[in-house]
Amino acid sequence: MMIVMKEGATEAQIAQVVERVDRAGARAHVSRGEFVTVIGAIGDDRELVAQLNLDGEPGVERVVPILKPYKLVSRDFRGPDAAIEIAGRRVGGDSFCLIAGPCTVESREQTLGTADTVKAVGASMLRGGAYKPRSSPYTFQGLGKAALEILAEARERTGLPVVTEVMDVRQLEDVVEVADVIQVGARNMQNFDLLKEIGRTGTAVLLKRGLAATIEEWLLSAEYIAREGNDRIMLCERGIRTFETAYRSTLDISAVPVVKQLSGLPVIVDPSHAAGKRDLILPMARAAVVAGADGLIVEVHPSPETALCDGPQALHSDTFAGWVADVRRCVDLMGKVVAGGAPVAVGA
Ligand code: PEP
Ligand code: MN
Repeated sequence: MMIVMKEGATEAQIAQVVERVDRAGARAHVSRGEFVTVIGAIGDDRELVAQLNLDGEPGVERVVPILKPYKLVSRDFRGPDAAIEIAGRRVGGDSFCLIAGPCTVESREQTLGTADTVKAVGASMLRGGAYKPRSSPYTFQGLGKAALEILAEARERTGLPVVTEVMDVRQLEDVVEVADVIQVGARNMQNFDLLKEIGRTGTAVLLKRGLAATIEEWLLSAEYIAREGNDRIMLCERGIRTFETAYRSTLDISAVPVVKQLSGLPVIVDPSHAAGKRDLILPMARAAVVAGADGLIVEVHPSPETALCDGPQALHSDTFAGWVADVRRCVDLMGKVVAGGAPVAVGA
């Protein structure tokens, strides 16, 4: 539940409420706003409301139960469209986050070349996988630590924040050295121990929706991360598995406004993994932007024909600027601005 303090409530009154919440066996989470302080009491709401009986206590304005099973990531708790800040860029509100880069780091040349392309179009962040969750153990599994070093170089060279996936707690220490955003892939959305460990880092997170996850399960996974103290979370809709086989996954556009109603966390859409086919990515990206997404994450490659992973869905580096120009028109239409900057002439 949420305990909204009165404007001008004293530190002693806030401390008193926090102590009562702690004593009731719940966890207190204090958010200080410009005018009022809100204390989240994280536990079983029905029990807490009865046990704490805080209405009318000194400094308390009102007590609001949160009936959803997730609390910290709920819209009731966070407020609408609470933007988050990642490496100097705002994500959410009127700030649109365009993330682009290769599916996977294959070589220094391929990654730095793509990073330059991504920078030139004025994107917000660079993506690139070092550890890859592949369906087959016989396919390319990622370059691991060597890839992280290449990503660090790309970050240094372009100034772009880096988004990269972690699949296992054992990779986390190395990944947080380089990543501005830790990606949790669809296959790991319910790896609860990994989520908890990521929640203990101070690094922002891109939490992809599982292939067969409901929106509630997805938000509960975000809650696992937030509960450990890390609430800089972007949710990523990347398509779910349905009976349809004409494309790789079914992009659940409805999830965008629904999640925004329920949560207030920024929602990023990944049309690349949903479509699985290059020519579907632009119409799906446009739809996502107009549905209210706070950002897009797309795969780009200098030579998709030779890509080691996800080539058929990779946008060509050569034509990427035109693709972004089209998407920017939709971003404009929504009254948003791509966080990162204006496109610059290649070679400038
Ligand atoms: C990826 O981003 O390259 C990836 C593997 O994504 P997902 O977890 O959505 O399949
Ligand atoms: Mn991929």
